[in-house]
Amino acid sequence: MDRYDSLMGACNRLRIPVIRSVVIQGKEGMLFRNGRGRAVIFVNPLASRNRSAYIGMHELAHYYSPIYSYSETKTEMRANRWLAKFLLPPRLIINAILDGCCTCQDIAEKYDLPQEFICKTIENYAQTSERGVIYKKWILKFVPYLSIVNTVTGEELPER
Ligand SMILES: [Zn+2]
Repeated sequence: MDRYDSLMGACNRLRIPVIRSVVIQGKEGMLFRNGRGRAVIFVNPLASRNRSAYIGMHELAHYYSPIYSYSETKTEMRANRWLAKFLLPPRLIINAILDGCCTCQDIAEKYDLPQEFICKTIENYAQTSERGVIYKKWILKFVPYLSIVNTVTGEELPER
């Protein structure tokens, strides 16, 4: 089961149809609500399967984090923060570093996600947990650079 299947599964359970059709020029995806709790997600029909899954999940994030502000930036940030919990939890960043990833670009390639999403997610983690995030025997550190420290041996990766 890949990311696209998970998206379709989640949308089926919520009875949210996913329609592959361009809605607004220049937009890759869109969530429409009818105001009575029903919603429809539109996804760019030209997007690859993986990209469609990302776009659809982003729209699903809007479903779960309703507009609380008229600021588009804030609304988008909120949706992306919700999405980050599913697509890039700290343990996946740790796994990526263990696999040799050093940069946002490496991580983006490893998980086939947009680089901008990876960078923003890591930035958000850095802002909300300055001292790092603990997962199993690792501390994921953001300052002064993205790294992981083994709490048992003190070993730091990537090596500098
Ligand atoms: Zn959005």
